Amino acid sequence: MTKTLDIIVPFYNEQECIDELFKRLFNVRELLARDLITNFIFVNDGSSDNSLEIVESYAKNYSFIKIISFSRNFGHEIAVTAGLDFSTADYTAIIDSDLQDPPELLSEMYKKIQDGYQVAYGKRMKRKSETVFKKVTAFLFYRCLNSLCDTKLPTDTGDFRLMTAEVREAVKRLREHQRFMRGLLTWVGFKTVPVYYNRDERVAGETKYSPISLIKLALSAIFELSTTPLKLIWGLALLLALLAGILLLLHKNLYSVIMFAGCIPTFSIALAAAYIGRIYDETKNRPLYIVDRTVNLN
Ligand code: UDP
Ligand code: MG
Repeated sequence: MTKTLDIIVPFYNEQECIDELFKRLFNVRELLARDLITNFIFVNDGSSDNSLEIVESYAKNYSFIKIISFSRNFGHEIAVTAGLDFSTADYTAIIDSDLQDPPELLSEMYKKIQDGYQVAYGKRMKRKSETVFKKVTAFLFYRCLNSLCDTKLPTDTGDFRLMTAEVREAVKRLREHQRFMRGLLTWVGFKTVPVYYNRDERVAGETKYSPISLIKLALSAIFELSTTPLKLIWGLALLLALLAGILLLLHKNLYSVIMFAGCIPTFSIALAAAYIGRIYDETKNRPLYIVDRTVNLN
């Protein structure tokens, strides 16, 4: 039986991109048609321009174009989540709607899946026409995040990827509200391979992320993936205790005794932080493990 593929496309005020996007997606659908029946799941993230009307006009003619339309803007991460929730195909892909991720790469990703990989993700080599600020912050962000977090994200990688159904179903089990999709997609594991590409310019329109919203995303990624900042308080407490201890030994006066005693609140905060970190991890209610396959078990 022919296998199925769902391509998830989140969009927010992308009216200038959509015609070109469909042109490219239709070509890819043809390209894959020998092996796959492809559906598109378009997720309208509360667009206030004509994007939704344009996508609806295509959906009227082609039943393989599905639409999920949000009541307001919930953000890219949530739009991708909704797409995953509605996807039921053998394979699921995620792609931006501004054509910065070339849809044609999906066929290369599919080849990797046929080779036995469960996730093929796009890894950016060059980023055409992105500002120096964006390039530098992106470079620093991935490296800084990986030094803080237990889940090591592949560098220079977005959500653009193709995955098998078991990977999608595993990601669907992660229901935390503060979501950084790249982190969740990585956390589930599975046999993963990069597919290299040069990130194109947007075909039209503007990025939806201002420098401030990028910083917010970066901070939320750090806080969601890691409790390391809380653990750093232990380092601070130990450092203060060490300095105060040296002063106490050198001077043996009341001031150094007070300073030494002053470390107690910092240690108390560090202790509370250790519990807060654990509570935070528990509230995410993530599965304890993800099973890839079993043998001789029903
Ligand atoms: N997007 C979305 N909701 C938002 C912001 C963006 O669905 O609140 C979509 C947007 O339409 C695009 C993708 O997410 O398809 C990536 O957004 P953008 O191109 O603005 O981000 P950048 O590529 O500049 O990081
Ligand atoms: Mg973009």
